[in-house]
Amino acid sequence: MSETYDSWGRLEGPAGGRRAIEGGGGFPAIRSPAGLLPRGNGRSYGDSCLNDGGLLVDMTARDRILGFDAETGLLDAEPGVLLRDVTRLVAPLGWFLPVTPGTQFVTLGGALANDVHGKNHHRRGTFGAWVEDFTLQRSDRSPMRCARDENAELYAATIGGMGLTGIVTRLRVRMMRVASASIRQVTHRFRRLEEYFDEAAEADARHEYAVAWIDSLATGPNLGRGHLICGDHEPDGSLSGEARPARLKVPFTPPVSPLRGLALRAFNELYYRRAPKGRSERVVAFEPFFYPLDGVADWNRLYGPGGLLQHQSVVPEAGGAKAVRALIECAHAHGQGSFLTVLKRFGERPSPGLISFPRPGWTLTLDFPNRGRRTLDLMAALDRIAVDAGGAVNPYKDATMSPETFAASFPQWKRLEAWRDPAIVSDSWRRTALRLPAQATRAEAA
Ligand SMILES: Cc1cc2nc3c(=O)[nH]c(=O)nc-3n(C[C@H](O)[C@H](O)[C@H](O)COP(=O)(O)OP(=O)(O)OC[C@H]3O[C@@H](n4cnc5c(N)ncnc54)[C@H](O)[C@@H]3O)c2cc1C
Repeated sequence: MSETYDSWGRLEGPAGGRRAIEGGGGFPAIRSPAGLLPRGNGRSYGDSCLNDGGLLVDMTARDRILGFDAETGLLDAEPGVLLRDVTRLVAPLGWFLPVTPGTQFVTLGGALANDVHGKNHHRRGTFGAWVEDFTLQRSDRSPMRCARDENAELYAATIGGMGLTGIVTRLRVRMMRVASASIRQVTHRFRRLEEYFDEAAEADARHEYAVAWIDSLATGPNLGRGHLICGDHEPDGSLSGEARPARLKVPFTPPVSPLRGLALRAFNELYYRRAPKGRSERVVAFEPFFYPLDGVADWNRLYGPGGLLQHQSVVPEAGGAKAVRALIECAHAHGQGSFLTVLKRFGERPSPGLISFPRPGWTLTLDFPNRGRRTLDLMAALDRIAVDAGGAVNPYKDATMSPETFAASFPQWKRLEAWRDPAIVSDSWRRTALRLPAQATRAEAA
């Protein structure tokens, strides 16, 4: 198979490329001393979708939709189906993905394994909350149905388990009833971070979707200014789920990332002023609302040859506002600007996943062109702020956190290690959990 497997952050790979085999309906007979790892569409930013030295099991060809019940909204599918193809099928029938991340080029298997979240976490929780059941293939057992009431521990460990518990070969996911796929978008331009914190809870109470874009370069009294972007499905809008192909493409990787210095400052300034002062309202198609970056193919190349490091953390709601400010100031102090900065309030709805990332609180996402040591130092400083505030760092966006940061973010990690398939491992698991002392046995962890 092709040897161009990478993560979305385009982290430097081994000189010989990465080896992959095509996934089938069962656990692959082929074994590798360095383990296997199931692979979706590679939209994870860090190294949780990589397994250097071992094998990737590419599941993207397992992309059949096996059924959709338009009465109950239950979708039955193989794990390689892209979210784009789900929307195409269900939107004309008055249904929508209950949880969608910021790109529709994600597989159902990848969405389950990372237990992804969307702009409506405050209402719908994570993707896993909508997974009725799935078939799990492990190297040490026959195929298993996993659901809340059957193989419940493996159901929980697999949701958000980053592919480590086995290969999901089929899943059933519940869709959400909607009046249309069009979104009535309400944007409020705010002048400083505190204004966002004042408004976020009420925005969540009023709207299905709510998220803020932050001008991460603004300083002084303007620190944390941005747009609070809310949305609801329009009662009389379009029922088309068709996605338009990307209109632009970044044709090559520039030798130096343009997403820095004055150009970055100018972009933030212009983008901030793009929204009218105060509040504005308009009806938009679902694509630009949920997936603005999908409109530019290969946009990750803009981060230059070193690739892109994304940092997403969550801090508890109480006292968390101070930590969010500290995270933004930390990037300033390190002289590095984040191109796309997003702030959101996670809600209370618990995830069914054993080590899922979302939990109640404020989640801030920052991304930086990787400039080597300087950026690594910044990532470590951001990790410290998040952990000291009682928060966590997102493992499927991350490529740099220390084992200690990982353990502080996910104290229950030993239970996942106990459920890990003995034939499966990933680069991020090797870099974090497997460097920690006292790995638990399944009996200890249970
Ligand atoms: C532009 C952009 C915006 C994003 N926005 C968000 C967001 O808003 N919220 C959010 O949560 N995430 C977001 N992400 C991250 C992305 O949604 C997740 O990383 C997603 O899980 C990637 O899915 P994938 O199909 O590309 O899988 P991959 O990245 O290839 O793999 C993800 C994980 O799933 C496992 N896996 C894949 N298939 C299977 C299978 N069949 N069985 C078992 N395990 C499997 C892999 O081992 C790996 O650990 C965004 C990413 C991008 C590029």
